Amino acid sequence: MLYVRKIHLKLDKLASHDDLTDLPNRRCFHEELAKLLLLKERNNSKLSLIFIDIDNFKYVNDTKGHDVGDKVLISLAKILNSNVRKSDFVARWGGEEFIILLIDSDINQAQIIAEQLRSQVAQSNQLAQYAQQQVTISLGVTSATEKDNVDTILKRADLALYKAKSAGKNCIVSS
Ligand code: GH3
Ligand code: MG
Ligand code: MG
Repeated sequence: MLYVRKIHLKLDKLASHDDLTDLPNRRCFHEELAKLLLLKERNNSKLSLIFIDIDNFKYVNDTKGHDVGDKVLISLAKILNSNVRKSDFVARWGGEEFIILLIDSDINQAQIIAEQLRSQVAQSNQLAQYAQQQVTISLGVTSATEKDNVDTILKRADLALYKAKSAGKNCIVSS
């Protein structure tokens, strides 16, 4: 019985986590976001979201190799996790994109966290060593409103991230 249970736990983890970074995957993130939006409504609490994309990652990958790219992703995942609270939720959205749910944080608090993440990454010696150049990220920040569902809040964060890229990268746009 114990053995079967162990296999179940392992299968659950495989389905919900990303192999490379060990972060929750997009599917897992979706479930968490849906749950937290409901909780937010019930408790009248705050919920913010940060969408993150590594700048010029294709260049690093193409010029320094896929293994280097993988190391950058693993290291970045650790930096993100160690710069948010334990109760926050950091996930790998896919490719070189990450997403963070900030529990009980309004847009101002989320902007402060986003700026900390941006500067930690830009100043990281480990990332720069792996990539053999400075690594930077762009960030889109938004806060949940009463009318939000999973799709609307994600769309807004994605648009903010797109604007951060257009504004020259290594920066934050909130909406
Ligand atoms: P931008 O600044 O506009 O975001 O440009 P970019 O080069 O970061 O974005 P683009 O979407 O052109 O390239 C993303 C690259 O990420 C493509 C692919 O080589 C790399 N990538 C995606 N997933 C992985 C992965 O799991 N491992 C590695 N090593 N590379 C990955
Ligand atoms: Mg991308
Ligand atoms: Mg990118």
